[in-house]
Amino acid sequence: AAKNLHGKTVLITGASSGIGRSCALEFARSSPQKLHLVLTARRVDRLHKLAGQITEELGEGVRVHVVKLDVSKTDQVSRLWSELPVEFSKVDILINNAGFMSGYERAPDIPSSVIDDVWATNVTGLINMTQGFLNVAKKREDGGRGDIVMIGSIAGREAYAGGSIYCASKAGVKSFTDAVRKELIATKIRVITVDPGQVLTEFTVIRNRGDEASADKVYEGCDPLTPDDIAEVVVFACSRRENVVVADSMLFPNYQA
Ligand code: NDP
Repeated sequence: AAKNLHGKTVLITGASSGIGRSCALEFARSSPQKLHLVLTARRVDRLHKLAGQITEELGEGVRVHVVKLDVSKTDQVSRLWSELPVEFSKVDILINNAGFMSGYERAPDIPSSVIDDVWATNVTGLINMTQGFLNVAKKREDGGRGDIVMIGSIAGREAYAGGSIYCASKAGVKSFTDAVRKELIATKIRVITVDPGQVLTEFTVIRNRGDEASADKVYEGCDPLTPDDIAEVVVFACSRRENVVVADSMLFPNYQA
């Protein structure tokens, strides 16, 4: 399957930690002979560190380009697509991963600035990134092929108290994704949904800022997944032969007996 990734260009949002970072490493390790990686996030120092780690571990076969990108800023997203160096401009795989939850808060208590920020990042940012990818793909000689991976959440399928805005944002991602998949169904572009459940990342720390008791309950009775668990499924889906669409996966830890 790794041969299907050979020579591909993969762009990841939110590659500075957690699932995005694990995806970068998993793609690199799965195609060490030839791969182009575009790593994006706001914390660019971490991206350079990751780029260094990849080169040190795998050598020059994996070429890495780092871009400082806040996906919630529409102008930054358009600039990203127009300013990619030629070597990295033919993006085959987009991993729409950047996202966050602001904490556990009841709907009436959530400041409007937080609502705007969650929406601009999790929903509008992902939509703008997808549009950028599709516009670039359209102009390609091969008529556009590739994969768009949406890191949603099980929260987009089942909402919970204290998570109204986050759950709504992930439900928005799910609807957008389902519609785009239908629009692209007879093309060479695969739309891949990966909806994780409980994964231990920095996300957990951020989420715990609010109601810690509720946040702790998320992990009650289970041993959370690691970001590598999610990355393995992302890379698996993207490395299937062209005719196979792993359209929709939900991943959550098994409960302890
Ligand atoms: P982390 O907090 O570890 O990583 C989040 C990443 O998103 C960081 O790299 C961060 O980079 C980036 N990010 C956040 N806001 C922005 C922004 N405005 N612009 C660009 N990048 C941004 O969390 P996870 O790895 O857990 O989260 C990744 C995705 O997985 C998210 O979409 C999350 O909703 C989803 N998810 C996570 C679950 C979990 O239990 N952990 C469960 C279900 C879904 P930086 O701050 O450097 O910009």
